[in-house]
Amino acid sequence: MFEYQYPDASGHFGRFGGSFASETLTHALTELRDAYAKYQNDPEFVAEFQSELAHFVGRPSPVYHAARMSREMGGAQIYLKREDLNHTGAHKINNVIGQAMLARRMGKPRIIAETGAGQHGVATATICARYGLECIVYMGAEDVKRQSPNVYRMRLLGATVVPVESGSRTLKDALNEAMRDWVANVDNTFYIIGTVAGPHPYPAMVRDFQKVIGEECLTQMPEFLGADRQPDAVVACVGGGSNAMGIFHPYIPFENTRLIGVEAAGEGLDSGKHSASLQRGSSGVLHGNRTFILQNENGQITETHSISAGLDYPGVGPEHAWLQELGRAQYVGITDQEALDAFHYLCRTEGIIPALESSHAVAYAMQLAKTMRADQSILVNLSGRGDKDIGTVADLSGADYYDRPSMRGLTVKGGAAQ
Ligand SMILES: *Cc1c(COP(=O)(O)O)cnc(C)c1O
Repeated sequence: MFEYQYPDASGHFGRFGGSFASETLTHALTELRDAYAKYQNDPEFVAEFQSELAHFVGRPSPVYHAARMSREMGGAQIYLKREDLNHTGAHKINNVIGQAMLARRMGKPRIIAETGAGQHGVATATICARYGLECIVYMGAEDVKRQSPNVYRMRLLGATVVPVESGSRTLKDALNEAMRDWVANVDNTFYIIGTVAGPHPYPAMVRDFQKVIGEECLTQMPEFLGADRQPDAVVACVGGGSNAMGIFHPYIPFENTRLIGVEAAGEGLDSGKHSASLQRGSSGVLHGNRTFILQNENGQITETHSISAGLDYPGVGPEHAWLQELGRAQYVGITDQEALDAFHYLCRTEGIIPALESSHAVAYAMQLAKTMRADQSILVNLSGRGDKDIGTVADLSGADYYDRPSMRGLTVKGGAAQ
């Protein structure tokens, strides 16, 4: 068993994490830490959280054996944890419910959130509608454009979506703007952060609300593999890192299970156009914590790129930086094109349309499976569904996608393309 007890009392994961925030937010963060400490193990809070997950989200989400895909790869068995089947279509809702429950108990009627792909915004708007809370979502103007179905969804649910025009007009800029709003309205406002980033207690709190994913897998996987057996590898995409921490965390003590996070390699890890903070970044402070970030020699955040808005972030949760340093988790990259190919492959082979974010994890699992034996297994966190991405995919793939040499085998074997 791998010994692991993080963060410490001040929110540090080794040399990462902590709390770097302005004077104005110090009080709000203390208040939040106290509230979380009070309710975290409160039986009534825990029971309500579990009831919400069961009846509103639809948990537990199933694990599915992708038998046809596994056979075609000719190696390890690939299993998918179906977070895409959650209400609102991704893992984000797990965390949002936990934080909204805290907001109600703390008497904060106004909720703000940042969003990239829009899934966190949709989840937040959904809970605010149900709990009767005001909801303001900050979203980079670029993301507003590429994820327009989710923008409309948030508006249907009664949220105000604020396009952010500064910087690269993506997720990092939305986070900056949400932080600014929080500073200005700290008395009546709760900031629901969508990933395992931000100042302490956010990284640990968001992980705790998401770890239900891995906890369910611990009982679901032996049903496939036999008593006491767990997968040889767990694979998840990493943007800020919340779906990955959610499935990794319960597996950390299981040393025989490799933990592999997949970052967006964009146009290639050496192209300068990617979002691979753990593989190409260095230690620095961003959005209230010390972690690995993409920065130039003057400490300026550099531009990031990914086909998927949800992975397009120049930082990463501090716990991932620490797991990488400890050697307990390993991080790899998948390019835009590899993710796009995996997206199409999963559609045609298993009848599942994955989010472009999740397609990065699927793509890596497909490569990894080929290097393993048929009696070994890989568990992939399918973090979300791809409905929001079909416009992007249609634009990028082109009408002749299935005529390409790399795709021809797929159409013939499946007999699906007519
Ligand atoms: C937001 C999102 C991600 C990336 O965020 P993490 O915090 O890294 O999980 C991945 N997949 C989907 C479907 C998302 O909506």
